[in-house]
Amino acid sequence: MGSFWIAQILVGSVYLRLRKNRCKIMKVMKFGGTSVGKPQRMKEVAALITADNESKIVVLSALSGTTNTLVEISNLLAVNDRQNARQCIDSLEQHYNHFVGELLTDINIVQKAQRVLAEHFEFLSIILKISFSEALNKDILAQGELLSTKLFSLYLEEIKVPHKLLPALDFMTLDTHDEPQVGTIKVKLAQQLQRNPDIKIFITQGFITRNAKGEVDNLKRGGSDYTASLIAAAINASVCEIWTDIDGMHNNDPRIVSITRPIEQMSFEEAAELAYFGAKILHPASIWPAQFYNVPVRLLNTMDASAKGTLITEQAGSTGVKAVAAKDYITAIRIKSSRMLLAYGFLRKVFEVFEKYKTSIDMITTSEVGVSVTIDSDIFLPEIRKELEAFGTVEIDTNQSIVSIVGNEINDTPDMMRRLFDAVSGIPVRMVSYGGSRHNVSLLIARAYKEQMLQALNAGLFGLDES
Ligand code: ASP
Ligand code: MG
Repeated sequence: MGSFWIAQILVGSVYLRLRKNRCKIMKVMKFGGTSVGKPQRMKEVAALITADNESKIVVLSALSGTTNTLVEISNLLAVNDRQNARQCIDSLEQHYNHFVGELLTDINIVQKAQRVLAEHFEFLSIILKISFSEALNKDILAQGELLSTKLFSLYLEEIKVPHKLLPALDFMTLDTHDEPQVGTIKVKLAQQLQRNPDIKIFITQGFITRNAKGEVDNLKRGGSDYTASLIAAAINASVCEIWTDIDGMHNNDPRIVSITRPIEQMSFEEAAELAYFGAKILHPASIWPAQFYNVPVRLLNTMDASAKGTLITEQAGSTGVKAVAAKDYITAIRIKSSRMLLAYGFLRKVFEVFEKYKTSIDMITTSEVGVSVTIDSDIFLPEIRKELEAFGTVEIDTNQSIVSIVGNEINDTPDMMRRLFDAVSGIPVRMVSYGGSRHNVSLLIARAYKEQMLQALNAGLFGLDES
């Protein structure tokens, strides 16, 4: 064969390999704590991930309750209460022994699982003997996801499903501002995937990551959704599936109103407003990576895999009001000043106070003599109040709730405001925010009126009457 043809074949095969690597279409499937919280549920997850032949990265949370227990252990250690910490660790170990007993049957694999438990519970014993630090706290919190993924991997081994466990600590990273960097994650993850070209199912931990110093860290409570979305963005996944135990995002809070319905499709913006303002199904930070890299997100139900769930894409699907959600523990601050009249720079000075104390503002309304803002963190309230008093009188109302009404182009829907205010007439409203985006109206009310308001809106906006 002439050298020309050899060169052609070489170029062609390199091209094909590059193409294969780049074009391997994968999806992300994330399962939360309740979906893996019981051995039987974990087996159902295995059935779900093997139901099709697609390549996928499966992201798991810790078994339900584990992270709460780990937080408790950490808190006890922080106050040097080793005796109660020991007790918590022992009962957690019992729970896991029992779990393994129900999950696995093959004696060799049971022994492997016992070694996994021994390794992690040995770590938890050692921490009782060393001094507590923030870095140690992060190591403790990481145990939950490390355990759930290792046990799940062993179960897959038992039922002979080829797969690979990818340690999230090898590719998830935070920058110096503790923000995840999709670019870096992309490069590191691609290397991991390329090392295993024949594997179709990868398993990894949600929530845990390394920080800029290389230490174990996490994406904050509920952060596994965020991991899933970051991975989906990094691999340009075909879809990011978030599996929970409810059939998608609902139009209202099912704990408060008796009839709710799932939303079939919504835009990233609508989902972000809803997730931020109270819909518990999705971690609010998890929207941006999927949105920025345009990966559709699907919220699905492990208990009813055939239910449509909710599809979140760039397109909203339909217009009008889609859902209402409420966020509690809100503090409203009103700053009144006659000096605001005809003055410029007043708002800047007010905002600078919040910036100084790293406290973000959710809602804002202004009048010529005053401004009201809401915050959801009271940590620096005394300091903020003191500094704001330099500008005028300051009134503070705690225990408020933001009720957010979300829908595509809600602001262009004729009659919307009349229907809204008709529905809630009789309920005192402290603030109204309208026009900040085209798909949101927010009302601030005292927490005590929240149930009444969500029920009134369910009837008035969705025709879902309680009676
Ligand atoms: N296990 C972590 C938590 O409970 C992360 C998650 O479940 O999303 O917060
Ligand atoms: Mg969750």
